[in-house]
Amino acid sequence: MRGPVPAADIGFTLPHEHTAIALWHIPNRWDYWELSRDEEIAAAELARFRAAGGSSLVDLTLPGVGRDPARLAGLSEQTGLHIVMGAGWYRGAYYPAEALIDRRSVDDLASELIREATDGVAETGIKPGIIGEVGTDKPWVSALEERVHRAVARAARQTGLAITTHSVMSPVGLDQLRLFEEEGMDPSRVVIGHADSYPSLDYYLEIVGRGANLEFDFLGMSFTPMERHGEGRIVELLCELLARGHADRVLLSQDVCHNGQLTRYGGHGYTYLQETFLPRVRDAGASDSEIEQITVGNPRRILAR
Ligand SMILES: [Zn+2]
Repeated sequence: MRGPVPAADIGFTLPHEHTAIALWHIPNRWDYWELSRDEEIAAAELARFRAAGGSSLVDLTLPGVGRDPARLAGLSEQTGLHIVMGAGWYRGAYYPAEALIDRRSVDDLASELIREATDGVAETGIKPGIIGEVGTDKPWVSALEERVHRAVARAARQTGLAITTHSVMSPVGLDQLRLFEEEGMDPSRVVIGHADSYPSLDYYLEIVGRGANLEFDFLGMSFTPMERHGEGRIVELLCELLARGHADRVLLSQDVCHNGQLTRYGGHGYTYLQETFLPRVRDAGASDSEIEQITVGNPRRILAR
């Protein structure tokens, strides 16, 4: 948010987070899923992450669910964190009407992202540092979503930005990856997100086998019994990937996207990895250098242009 920084300055990083998001306003969604826009609350939560050794955080909130470059720049100033902003369009149900996704060509959509990466967002001059989170509502890619996937791949190729995806509870990440590959995207610049919501070693091996990255980013979520009790399996799968030599293709995050996840309201805040998850992974046999690779080296590589 405060301009380019040398890659070496990027330390412990959360590559898939939100500091504010609203998900309840779409048709046929009746809950009030929201992460507060209150700057004071967000700054206090982020300060805890910084105090625990955090260096950088990627905020993947996009237009349509509350992206706000000026607010993010303010949070970065206040906390001293490197905050990285995303770009693109989230998933079908959340495409903002004014983006006219169903009326514009793939190249026209791509050119909007290239413009943001070159000149900044509107008059703020603030540039995104990654494309995403973009993805799919369901375990398939809709027609509109295919258009967005192709557009972001073309923009990523032109700008050198990486792409990070929303892909839940299914192997749909492979369909996303196929579209990016068809557009000539280098798979090592793609992060298939929410992979821990589909705990399948075969799925993970297929993603890394094609040269892409996978991300366990629902860590510490406790909205459902599955999320509360599934972590042991995720630790096992992570250790299996490490044993097979894939430490260079895994990323970890917490996807804070609801007030209930903030420490202020009894949640883990932004420090679940440092305080709980990584000690568990260490106990399960991961080495310090593997953990350093996953939490520092890999995000640094993804964010470097
Ligand atoms: Zn997210």
